[in-house]
This record gives sequence, structure tokens and C-alpha cells, in this order.
Amino acid sequence: MSRIHVPTPHDVGGMYDRLTDVLAESLGGSVHVGYWDDAADPASVARATERLTDLVADRLAIAPGGHILDVGCGNGKPGLHIARRLDVRLTGITVSTHQLGLARAAVHTSDQDRVEFRLADATHSHFAPDTFDAAFAIESLLHMTERTTVLTELARVVRPGGRLVVADVLLRRPIEGDTRTVVDAITRLFEVVSVATEQEYRTQLGETGWDIREFVDIGENVRPVYRRMATAMRDLAASAPDDVRQQTLAGADLVEAFASLPEIGYVLITARRK
Ligand code: SAH
Repeated sequence: MSRIHVPTPHDVGGMYDRLTDVLAESLGGSVHVGYWDDAADPASVARATERLTDLVADRLAIAPGGHILDVGCGNGKPGLHIARRLDVRLTGITVSTHQLGLARAAVHTSDQDRVEFRLADATHSHFAPDTFDAAFAIESLLHMTERTTVLTELARVVRPGGRLVVADVLLRRPIEGDTRTVVDAITRLFEVVSVATEQEYRTQLGETGWDIREFVDIGENVRPVYRRMATAMRDLAASAPDDVRQQTLAGADLVEAFASLPEIGYVLITARRK
């Protein structure tokens, strides 16, 4: 595991309070990467990020009317999309008060009364055992210091047989030399705790009550997002509030440098609660 920095949920929430708007605007609405079929795929960032949401949705194996937990719900866009697509109830949690406001406003606008968002730390979620039929975590585990505690907690609140789908950054092999500084800086800026290797994901899931059904590295399908995101962030920096402008420009440079690291992949994991 490449652990550089140990942010608290409070640090993570504060970063998303400041950066969610810029990130969502650079990423076509949600706060996660996109999926392109290949280099010739002309999909827009908005279309590609929605495809990533759909890749997660299609792995949840949940019947209409079931109840899903969205671990790290961002501004609510992916959760609302998934709840509508699968015709299910959804509860999303975030550690950012700004995101909570956005997510609740989005529920109001979309008129989906089976979707609810709360401020909660996934490490201690306080849901009753077996509350959910499935859970997903899109780019949220990388912020969590106690990853095995969170996975154990998810195994407690998802019923036996239920799915967990994880979409997150993957460390393909150790990063050495100068490129380390890029990764150190980007993890600090975005309050990332660690980027896990395949072995770490497998061990942590296996030890916490999950059977892995699928483990696929889609890193090359995701890679086009970083350059597009950097360009959009630079455009947005000019009109960003003072406290966000510098971080946005620094973030754009780092995201661009990150784009070229072959050590960085992106994983889609489907696990089943034992
Ligand atoms: N899944 C969303 C947002 C990704 S951003 C999307 O795809 O658009 C990362 C999310 O993880 C944020 O919503 C952040 O609040 C959440 N997060 C990070 N650490 C968390 C924790 N300990 N508990 C709950 N949510 C957390």
C-alpha cells in the first residue's frame, strides 16, 4: 500500500466542501472518472462518467425495491442515477456538509422519494445489521484510513449474499524515483490515505467477509479522464473563489502528471457477502 498521508474524515469533508463544485464541473456532474472504450471513442466526459456509474449499477445484482447503500455519495448524482436505473431505494452517506446539501437538493429536484442522503462516517455508520441488499463505493475507500474496519462494517450492514461493488484507483506496482513526488503531492491535495494494490484489495476483502466475484483493471479505459479534467480545472480556476483557485491550479498540474503514470490503474471489484 502506498500510504503517505493520514487525513481524518473531517479533513476529507473539508476538502470536498471546497472542491466538489470544481471537481463535479470538470467531471461532467459527478465526482468520479469516466470510461472510454478505446482511444478513438469520442464520448464526452459527461457520457463517460455516466458509463462508469452504469458499470457499477450493472454489477449490483439487486431486485427492484431492494435497498442500496452508497458509500461516499458525493453530490448525489451517481446514487440518484442508480436508484432510478435499478428501481431501488438508496441511502447515501458523505463526510462533506456541502455535498450533503447538494445531494439533498438533487433529491428534491429529481422527485425520487426513495433516495436519502446523510452525513455519516462509513467507519461507524450506525445502520442496523443486514439493512442493505447491496452497497457500492465509488472512489471513497481511498480516503479511509481504517479500510478493513470499513469493509467489516459494510459486511455487517449488507445482508448475506448481497453485493459490494468498489470502483477505485489501483496501484499496479510500486512507484519509485521522481514520480513518487507526484503521487505524494496528489494524495495530500485530495486527502487520499492510500492507493491499494490488487493483493491488498483481495486480502482486505477476503478477511472482512467478502468473496470476490470479479476483479478487473480498467485503468486504460479511464486514463483519458485525467487530461480532460486538468484542462477543465484550469478553465474553471479563473472564476473559482479565492480559497479554491490555487488548489484548483495545483490540482490540474498534478492530475495531468498522474495521467501518465503506468503504475496507476483503476479497479472495478464485485464482491459477495459470505
Ligand atoms: N461516489 C461519489 C463521490 C466520490 S468523492 C461519486 O462517484 O461521484 C469521495 C466521496 O467519499 C465523498 O462523498 C466523501 O465525502 C466520501 N467519503 C470519504 N471518506 C468517507 C468516510 N469516512 N465516510 C463516508 N464517506 C466518505
